[in-house]
Amino acid sequence: MIDLLLRACRLSDREGLADVGIAGGRIVAIGAVEGSAREIVEVSGRLVTPGLVEAHIHPDKALLMDRVAAPVETVADAIRVTGEAKRRFTAEDIRARTRRVLDLAVAAGTTAMRAHVEVDPIVGLAGMEAVLPLRREYAPALDLQVCAFAQEGILQSHGTEALLRQALRMGADLVGGVPYNDTDAVKHIEIVFSLAQEFGVDADFHVDFFDEPDHLHIREIAKQTVRAGWQGRVAVGHLSELAALPPPEQDAVISDIVAAGIGVICLPATDLYLMGRRDQVNVRRGLTPIRRLLAAGVPVALATNNVRNPFTPVGTADLAHMAFVAAVAAHMGTPDQMRELVATLTTHPARIMRLRDYGLAVGCRADLVVWGCEQPEDIVAALPPRVLVVKNGRVTIEHEQRVRERWRQPPGRP
Ligand SMILES: [Zn+2]
Repeated sequence: MIDLLLRACRLSDREGLADVGIAGGRIVAIGAVEGSAREIVEVSGRLVTPGLVEAHIHPDKALLMDRVAAPVETVADAIRVTGEAKRRFTAEDIRARTRRVLDLAVAAGTTAMRAHVEVDPIVGLAGMEAVLPLRREYAPALDLQVCAFAQEGILQSHGTEALLRQALRMGADLVGGVPYNDTDAVKHIEIVFSLAQEFGVDADFHVDFFDEPDHLHIREIAKQTVRAGWQGRVAVGHLSELAALPPPEQDAVISDIVAAGIGVICLPATDLYLMGRRDQVNVRRGLTPIRRLLAAGVPVALATNNVRNPFTPVGTADLAHMAFVAAVAAHMGTPDQMRELVATLTTHPARIMRLRDYGLAVGCRADLVVWGCEQPEDIVAALPPRVLVVKNGRVTIEHEQRVRERWRQPPGRP
């Protein structure tokens, strides 16, 4: 018995239309599906993709713009201003803002997410207490990975290593570091890897978030990834310094990234907002070289990072916006390039997050989006509505849109 039948779907990898049959939370048939189903949805030729995958977001420090007014010019400013706001966070406050972000993401078609949640002597474990229970609460709509993240550093922020260990004992899914914000980057990276190995979890770094290639901690991360045998289990976010190297040197670093099986997460809204601040003319964009990384076979995800806080004052947690921005900021405007950008919201982040049975094929988990468009490139170009979202074979979101063009009516008519 089919639980849910999506009729006449347009799929990016085949000609014509196909039905998608779902049972037991999985895709069981693609093609002409006969017979009855508990629920039938007429998709009417709209595009269907796997669910969007948000590989990097900070819900615990999202939605702060009503309580921070200090001007921000640099990454260090954003960390300081947010750190001051963080002193007044409570678990209830963090949970309420996190719920608002998750609700926005779910409505936008996100079916899996990696959330960075800060763990340090300022906020203690309040973020963990607030967010960990949401994994279960949101499970019908979203797979939530929680990364215990040391935003304030580990060595320069005494007690953080013990707090990270405690967070992992509480059930954090992985551990996150930020070597540029510490007194000894190499030791910082070593501590993150030792925690990853101790708990058998993946590692995720905020790295090389500067205009000039003055740090390039990515090299150390690649080295330690191989040393730890953690290939395929490490992701890095930002990596904007890579774009400042001459192409042959970029290629050398990229081959280290490939050899270590590291995934790269570009955070275009934050990177465009905070990079290039000292440039008086020809203000640089500060994005990692997405096209070069993709051409080398690196899994590259686009992700939201921040929603309305000192790091990024705008945002709706709709991943399609990141592809829209990247198409212009990273010069990816052909239909093929825009299809690649759709992969940076779907298959690439799924690989980075090691989601099992992800995709649009028989046997995969039925996490799907029905879009208000026909072609994948339209997702990037036109930000179409998510007409329907399916998670684990159940419809989670229905989107209705109604615009009345009253200007077309003769005057005087209601
Ligand atoms: Zn981040």
